[in-house]
Amino acid sequence: MSKSTGAAAQDAARRRRCGVGGDGADSNRSSRDPMVRLRTLLILAVVAVAILVVLTYESNVRTDTGDVGARARDIHSGPYGSVGYEIDYEQGAAPDPTPVSRLLDFGHRYSGKLTFADQTSGAIPAQGKQCYTDAQAFAIADSHHDRISFPPVLWLHYTFLNGYNCASNHVAGETYRATSVIIFMPALRSCGLPVIGGSCVADQVLEAAAMAHENGHVMGLCAISMPDLSPPICDGTGHALDKMSLMAPVLDPSSPNVINLTLEGKEVQLLNEL
Ligand SMILES: [Zn+2]
Repeated sequence: MSKSTGAAAQDAARRRRCGVGGDGADSNRSSRDPMVRLRTLLILAVVAVAILVVLTYESNVRTDTGDVGARARDIHSGPYGSVGYEIDYEQGAAPDPTPVSRLLDFGHRYSGKLTFADQTSGAIPAQGKQCYTDAQAFAIADSHHDRISFPPVLWLHYTFLNGYNCASNHVAGETYRATSVIIFMPALRSCGLPVIGGSCVADQVLEAAAMAHENGHVMGLCAISMPDLSPPICDGTGHALDKMSLMAPVLDPSSPNVINLTLEGKEVQLLNEL
């Protein structure tokens, strides 16, 4: 009883403070105050949103340039509804359309997200290099990255170079950061017999497989971003122990996984740990 009496007294006090039935000055203030408060709130909201956008943008820049696997979880969940593939290529090393569309299909199958490619920034001028050191390859790739991930689009960056990796002519691709991949196109080419002209064209099956293999690393395979299974299926360097896997360190062109761009059941199990 005494509580309800106290509450009634407080209510009355509150109503008074709100200026109901007060003098003219109070009445004026009461009609202005909500507008002032609304304006202040709007200004604060705009400032808060601006700060959030800047922080989100900067944290995306940092994560895009983070270690390999740093985007694995975001590919599978998080605020990103789609995965965009920015494709930059040195003149003479443009990827073929079929392997690109197969890469997009691979990305969609194992992320469950909408995938699309952006190849609009045009060719990187020919560099005339027989081979690239890692540092040279990373520098030229980095200098042509245009897209930064920002919800709802997570951007992966693929750069196709018209030279080998100086470490070995057999290195077809390299994932060097969370969203950055380099494909060394000459490593994927096979040349006709010199006697009939000997033009070199990329093997489109291997081209698609190399691109998807690197996408597998970006997704955190093999056990880069998640613990390995027991018994292990990964070799500790990010590759699969099974030589027929798409994530094997050396791709076997006769493997159905390589031909069809399929991950093995246990690799999908690893992705599901994310
Ligand atoms: Zn690899």
